[in-house]
Amino acid sequence: MPLSDDSRRLLELSLGELGLPLPSSQQLEQLSRLYDLLLEANTRTNLTAITDERGFVLKHLVDSLTCELSQLLEGQQRVIDVGTGAGFPGLPLKIVKPALDMTLLEATRKKVEYLDQASQALGLKNIRTLWGRAEEQAHRPELREVFDRALVRAVGTTATVAELCLPFVRVGGYLLVQKGPEVEAELGPANKAIRALGGKLVEIIKLRLPGIGDQRKLLVIEKNTETPPRYPRRPGVPAKHPLF
Ligand code: SAM
Repeated sequence: MPLSDDSRRLLELSLGELGLPLPSSQQLEQLSRLYDLLLEANTRTNLTAITDERGFVLKHLVDSLTCELSQLLEGQQRVIDVGTGAGFPGLPLKIVKPALDMTLLEATRKKVEYLDQASQALGLKNIRTLWGRAEEQAHRPELREVFDRALVRAVGTTATVAELCLPFVRVGGYLLVQKGPEVEAELGPANKAIRALGGKLVEIIKLRLPGIGDQRKLLVIEKNTETPPRYPRRPGVPAKHPLF
């Protein structure tokens, strides 16, 4: 089922409220088709608990697109979405910024299969999936410190995701971490971890998700020196024993 006219209007109003650009009519069609593809695949594979149209528009599409508030996603940058799940935030961002070179990294094979099918059905170019764990993939020379941007939503605490993501980012690049209102409580240890991994928290962008009112915080972390080769540690360790 594609998105109704009401849901398309809700999407446009919400993006307008946040000061974000409106998708072209072709992009709107693709975002609508994404809902269809996700719902269909969700009957076979457990991809998301958010299946109602309004929830999809606000919590998946609009929330993903708030990464644009950083004004750091431009041109043909190489971007990696770590622990993308059903493709959030990477897929909606790729749809509205088609020039981005997008890599979707996900540990669960069934989700990767869905992401491949969806990317193909949407006719997206310069997008690929990577099946595996960040702890292992980030040690592959062809993936290490080569991405201009990394994105991450709902994969762990800030210290954990910093260890999983910063090794992918080139020096001079940025990691965007999507968090909820309580993030400040994590920031003491997280700041130390970020520094140990070669990064620096440079900005926290605060926003409210239109229609829902939930507060979100987008952490902008700059990569300023190389990540020591021992990071990330073995699979599971960054989550079980966060740095600091
Ligand atoms: N980012 C998506 C979102 O916000 O909708 C998915 C969030 S879901 C809660 C977390 C996802 O991260 C899961 O699909 C899980 O398989 C994946 N994941 C967790 N740890 C990972 C790791 N170390 N490497 C790769 N993927 C991971």
